[in-house]
Amino acid sequence: MNAFEPPAAENPAAENPAAENPVAQKRYEGKAKILYATDDPEVLLTYFKDDATAFNAQKRGTISGKGEVNCAMSQHLFRLLEAQGVPTHLIDCPTSNTMRVRRVSIVPLEVVVRNIAAGSLCQQTGLELGTPLSPPLVEFYLKNDALGDPLLTEDRLRVMGLATPDQVQQLREMALRVNQVLSEFFNQCGITLVDFKLEFGVDGTGKLLLADEISPDTCRLWNQAESDPNRRVMDKDRFRRDLGDVEAAYQQVLQRVLAQSV
Ligand code: C5P
Repeated sequence: MNAFEPPAAENPAAENPAAENPVAQKRYEGKAKILYATDDPEVLLTYFKDDATAFNAQKRGTISGKGEVNCAMSQHLFRLLEAQGVPTHLIDCPTSNTMRVRRVSIVPLEVVVRNIAAGSLCQQTGLELGTPLSPPLVEFYLKNDALGDPLLTEDRLRVMGLATPDQVQQLREMALRVNQVLSEFFNQCGITLVDFKLEFGVDGTGKLLLADEISPDTCRLWNQAESDPNRRVMDKDRFRRDLGDVEAAYQQVLQRVLAQSV
């Protein structure tokens, strides 16, 4: 099946026998979030966990307050992006760590945009940490933990039936537009957007929506007021690399983000 096909229509009675208790039925549990059915088959409820994993779940831990930070920050940034013409799956956030989202069929790709060389790009290419990438790099990884989320080429995307060249182009354009909006926004927060990962989904009408989350779990964010390569880190690299003060960094990012109106 082509990943861009809209999700099949659901029978609410069969899919959600717990309709009287709309948040009761767990649909999917990932490393950082749990997805619940609601009494509306087109709406799902995402619960943001404090659990943290890195290196394909080989490293596990908890970042206290992370669920609330990631939920609030994602909501703020999705609203910003919507206002700038990027459609997202966000509906609203009924509580501090839950988000109601439109049901989509997730495209099984992680789309990574890089403005500055860091992380796996440096490890795999030898590029020096901090090398500016202009124009930004857009990369596609297969969302498959068992295979270690491999980097894909456009030909592999086509051969695997994951996306046609036109669809790759559509994903690339949306990812670059998100990068433009977010880079400018974070700059106003005194933060450099180094790189980030996006996920997309297709709604019942076949429309491509930005999905998942945008948070310190999924972005590299450097504090512009710090030049020290460890002290400037405000994202999940603090957890990955045992840099300490993980919770404080997440809270600091959220404070700066919420201080800027959309
Ligand atoms: O590890 P790598 O350098 O490829 O990550 C690039 C960006 O994508 C980072 O901001 C990282 O947090 C994010 N990412 C993610 N989820 C993954 C892989 C990468 O959020 N599974």
